Amino acid sequence: MSKVSIVVSVYNEEKVLPLFYEAFQKEKGNFTWDYELIFVNDGSQDTSLDLLNEFAKKEEHIKIISFTRNFGHEAAMIAGIDYAAGDGIICMDADLQHPLSSIPEIIQKFEEGYDVINMVRTSNKSAGIFKNITSKLFYKFINLLSDQTKFENNSSDFFAINKKIADVLRNNYREKMRFLRGYVQNIGGKQTTLSYEAAKRAGGKSHYSLNKLMKLAVSSIVLFSNFPLKIGMYAGAFSALFGLIVLIYTLCTYPGAPSGYATIVVLICFLFAILFIIIGIIGEYIAILFSELKDRPIYIVDETVNIK
Ligand code: UDP
Ligand code: MG
Repeated sequence: MSKVSIVVSVYNEEKVLPLFYEAFQKEKGNFTWDYELIFVNDGSQDTSLDLLNEFAKKEEHIKIISFTRNFGHEAAMIAGIDYAAGDGIICMDADLQHPLSSIPEIIQKFEEGYDVINMVRTSNKSAGIFKNITSKLFYKFINLLSDQTKFENNSSDFFAINKKIADVLRNNYREKMRFLRGYVQNIGGKQTTLSYEAAKRAGGKSHYSLNKLMKLAVSSIVLFSNFPLKIGMYAGAFSALFGLIVLIYTLCTYPGAPSGYATIVVLICFLFAILFIIIGIIGEYIAILFSELKDRPIYIVDETVNIK
């Protein structure tokens, strides 16, 4: 019998874990495959780990990987994938935003021979208009810049991959800065999408602040496109052309060229702005190079439960 591994990342989720557990008990009867439920405790400071230990005591299908500290959601998903023993792996959140009722459908798709199942949100109940619009814009933008991959709009950290894709993620794609849902789509294979309605968070509050989301957006663009590095050349060419035009104008109207204070100040500010932005962009790429060079682990496991 085939087996599905369900990877759930957990960071300070004491409010929702009992609800998740209860919902899972109800849903698991509908699975046509054997299963394992892997909780990755991403350095929670609340009682999440105690709760998980209780669950794992009751049932050895429930496994725990616990980190030494908080390494971030993506690191947690990678650890779950690394340890998963299933023929199919599903990554989902602990807060019940990703419906457990999609799992039987996903298993069906695995049986149909799909390698990657992207779960696409039809609506996100807990996200405001702002988050929904910026999320759309982000996908438009990254699709415009990325030359290799076309990303599903509204894809989320809810996705499923089979063993073959998981092996690629385990052996390659070990980058220190990542955009996992992008990688999954980047590998190729037989891909399909299923839609789901993102529910409201079952309790507690979101860990993704606007700041964190911005960082994720910037690093994912940097990871999938070299175009920003070339902006400097375009900006340079533009400034040179502009300078040339002004030079010709000055010579032609000699000696009557107007000496404008405002023009000079505005021009200097404008050109320096371009310069600094370009330096910032290069900095983003250097930061990625540097973190690769340091080669620190993506996550550090403190202990595992029910994992051989
Ligand atoms: N999470 C994690 N590490 C973190 C932040 C979040 O493992 O540093 C987990 C969190 O417990 C949840 C999932 O990642 O299961 C998604 O987080 P959240 O629901 O806060 O994000 P949102 O759904 O609001 O984007
Ligand atoms: Mg959530």
